[in-house]
Amino acid sequence: MSQIIIRKIARKQGLTRYFTGKPCKWGHVVDRYVSDGQCVECAWEWGRKWAAANPEKARERNRKRYVANSEKAKERVRKDRMANPEKWMEWARNGRTADPGRPHHTTGNNQ
Ligand SMILES: [Zn+2]
Repeated sequence: MSQIIIRKIARKQGLTRYFTGKPCKWGHVVDRYVSDGQCVECAWEWGRKWAAANPEKARERNRKRYVANSEKAKERVRKDRMANPEKWMEWARNGRTADPGRPHHTTGNNQ
């Protein structure tokens, strides 16, 4: 299973989680968050309860997270494209020639 990582060291390495190897007060032997020391299992459970109690807020939070993640994903693609231009050119070429997902362009009515 997980390797034991002392919180101080995790923090120093810029990790978000650490692992004590000891159970939390609910008996979960899992990673814990460096920020508040809460076990990830408890945090997940708490989040689930919170979402059930606050469906509106949960939806809003999910939406924000989705937006933030899609921005990050776009940024990742941008960087990757700059780092590996050949790979992306190849991908674009293959995408254009294979194109199995778009039948509506091949059977045109304009003939
Ligand atoms: Zn726990």
